[in-house]
Amino acid sequence: MTIPGTAVPHLVRTHDNVFWFDGAAEGRLLVQRCTDCETLRHPPAPSCPRCRSFDWDSVESSRQGTLHSWTVVHHPQDPAFTYPLLVGLVDLDTGTRLVADFEPTDHDALAVGCPVEVYFAEHAHGEVLPRLRLRPGHGESDVTQQGVS
Ligand SMILES: [Zn+2]
Repeated sequence: MTIPGTAVPHLVRTHDNVFWFDGAAEGRLLVQRCTDCETLRHPPAPSCPRCRSFDWDSVESSRQGTLHSWTVVHHPQDPAFTYPLLVGLVDLDTGTRLVADFEPTDHDALAVGCPVEVYFAEHAHGEVLPRLRLRPGHGESDVTQQGVS
């Protein structure tokens, strides 16, 4: 089953991930935390990859991180997205990773390790989800530092 007018499937909410989607709808980036060993994990999963415990709660994650990798999607195109679509893999400062699309950005401005932040936006399919952007000032501070030194 897809969202009308697109090939995007509806989000599948389960016992283990509903907290994440509800948090995103409220503009909060949440991650699971094992209540036995305190390991953070994302994406949501039923058990802890470290100690196998099924007990967990959720904590709010940092919205800042660094770009680990990215890809530029040209095809296939779906009316739910703007192309070229940049999809990034971010190392969040709190220690988990997140995959999300970027706001429209010149992909030549991206580099491994560049500072990015997460914000929330309603996507064309009507869901509020995390989206990535370069941190404000990225690039500008480099120019300023070059001008000073
Ligand atoms: Zn654990």
